[in-house]
Amino acid sequence: MTGTVSEATLPPADPKKLVAPLLEKLSAYDPKCDRDAVERAMEFAVQHHGDQRRHSGDAYFHHPLEVAEILTEFKLDTSTIITALLHDTVEDTTATLEDIKRSFGEDIARLVDGVTKLTRLESQSYDEHQAENFRKLLLAISEDIRVLLVKLADRLHNMRTLHFIKKPPKRQRIARETLDIYAALAERIGMQRVKDELEDIAFRELVPEGHASVTSRMEYLRESGTDRITRTTVELKELLDAEGIPAEVKGREKRPYAIWRKMQRKNISFEMLSDITAFRILVNNVQDCYRVLGAIHAVYHTVPGKFKDYISTPKSNGYQSIHTVVMGPENQRVEIQIRTREMHEIAEMGVAAHWSYKQDRDYSTDGKQFKWVRELLNIIENTARPEEFMENTRLEMYQDQVFCFTPKGDLIALPRGATPVDFAFAVHTEVGRSTVGAKINSRIMPLRTQLKNGDQVEILTSKSQQPAPSWEHFVVTGRAKAEIRRILRLQQRGEYVRLGKSMLEQAVLGIEEELHEEKLKPLLPEFRKEKLEDLYAAIGEGVQQRQEVVKALFPEKFKPRKSSLLSRFGLGHKEKKAEGGGMALPVTGLIPGMAIHFAGCCHPLPGEKIVGIVNTGKGVTLHAADCKELENFVDSPERWVDVSWQKDTGEEMFSGRIHVVLSNQTGALADLANTIAHAESNITNIRITNRAPDFYEMVVDVDVKDIEHLKSIMAMLRTRSIVQDVDRY
Ligand code: MN
Repeated sequence: MTGTVSEATLPPADPKKLVAPLLEKLSAYDPKCDRDAVERAMEFAVQHHGDQRRHSGDAYFHHPLEVAEILTEFKLDTSTIITALLHDTVEDTTATLEDIKRSFGEDIARLVDGVTKLTRLESQSYDEHQAENFRKLLLAISEDIRVLLVKLADRLHNMRTLHFIKKPPKRQRIARETLDIYAALAERIGMQRVKDELEDIAFRELVPEGHASVTSRMEYLRESGTDRITRTTVELKELLDAEGIPAEVKGREKRPYAIWRKMQRKNISFEMLSDITAFRILVNNVQDCYRVLGAIHAVYHTVPGKFKDYISTPKSNGYQSIHTVVMGPENQRVEIQIRTREMHEIAEMGVAAHWSYKQDRDYSTDGKQFKWVRELLNIIENTARPEEFMENTRLEMYQDQVFCFTPKGDLIALPRGATPVDFAFAVHTEVGRSTVGAKINSRIMPLRTQLKNGDQVEILTSKSQQPAPSWEHFVVTGRAKAEIRRILRLQQRGEYVRLGKSMLEQAVLGIEEELHEEKLKPLLPEFRKEKLEDLYAAIGEGVQQRQEVVKALFPEKFKPRKSSLLSRFGLGHKEKKAEGGGMALPVTGLIPGMAIHFAGCCHPLPGEKIVGIVNTGKGVTLHAADCKELENFVDSPERWVDVSWQKDTGEEMFSGRIHVVLSNQTGALADLANTIAHAESNITNIRITNRAPDFYEMVVDVDVKDIEHLKSIMAMLRTRSIVQDVDRY
């Protein structure tokens, strides 16, 4: 012993002692609870949080204990209580999910993981326009309602201790978030009590002067009006007794934040606001609710427009009650809520009440409620044991949506199955159309990847990029689909215009003339076109024959003839090639699949002689000059177009198809693949056409730069002993 004072001036925490009051509360409503597991969870929290402190200076492990205590007020099951005790261990200590799984089982690990995910989201900044999306995201991620309940209790305790945080901007950020997100969520799942407390603490933080004036005014009214509350309570009680309706009458003060909201909404001053109290009448059954209403309305005048029947038409969060305002005793306005005790429990505790008060319920759903509430109630209705309900309730709401973040933290809501391309178009059309790639959670991922909840998506863009036709097949949002189609249509028209103009220029050159657009313009009405572009597009698309345009331009010089191309390829009549008809259309730079297509029969490659055939309404199909299919077009010379490859095809890759006969021996396919890879090519498809005991026959598609590239691949394959034969398919 050195005599120095150790850091641990606090006596070592005794987890069993710490958790004893909690266990008492838990076993009061759940006598069969697993006491041992709860004690072990406390031990785990004490051990892992160690010396960590709260802003208050308290040892950290008091926080999870308090959170668990809040949840016992809602009579939640042991799993939820254990989850509460462990809820910050994975995020804030060295404990792992694996540790938790080992010590407490799969179920608890899943719940803790859910809470951890929500905690991580808290660090995301959000702006208030995103509040609704953020709430949906939390609901979607929660999956199990208990995860959300733990998170709400966590937030409630953090708000109760908010004043210990020293920096005002941080307190205000948390308060604002609580108001926008967590109070609203508590309301949505019907937990009025949690909602009220969260709102009041946030209100005190965000509008301190407003809060101070409301509470001091309430105090004043309370002091001067105590008698009135008592007198009114007594009078109402006597009235109901006389009618023989068993009922409990409670006068209660409204919450400061509710009063503040009312002052803001109705633009009234505090002096005019006298009704800071409201009365609640609790009865045994629904019939009595209406009997109470009848008795009160028979004696007091109602204030018009204030009557609401949420029993026959519940609110979307399941809330049921009758609200009315009457000119009560002493001719004062009195707000009255009438409900059964069970409706009251549900209003105060929300979803949690369904778990603890499930038995003997007569709680019916209403078609007007939100789908998810209906589903939730449906599950409750059809579950034999309440614990089972809690275990099986996956929050189905919003499960058809995913919520993703932009790098700045904005939330984007998308339908399930959405891809980065959908995301990009949801951000902005310009972003969508210039998308070249995407990073999901900092990793480059394919554009067709399906996004998951909470993914952070960064879209990589390039000004020169255009949407690819293939995107249309994997996007799921209507917006992305419509935009891609629109852009592709525009792009295709551009391609048709370029192709059509070149085709016409070529045809004019064929009769040793030049194309002057001034001469073409007056002819437009003849072809029922408004602009030159329209005419070019029609030629490119193949719906307007270019020979007819040439004929209209140069009536004297034009004479129908067989295409010089026919003779060049030894097809049709031998005829001398027209002088000067040698200008060919450059075909690269045009996007395959739009105005030009490569023929499936011969897969022409750069470096090979090619011929274009005009297809009505589809542009031009390119065939290899020696393709047998060309014989089918001998009788339509007007459809032939002289085309050639541009000198430099750059990085573009084309599909070459080869026919290979391989020895049937071990490693033959691997050898084939390796050889092709060494030749800097990529196999895009393999189809085995014949399989014999001693050989395979197959058709292989490879990416190549040009015909020379394909030839060198074939040559390299021929050097392999496993290759018996290679030729172009
Ligand atoms: Mn916490």
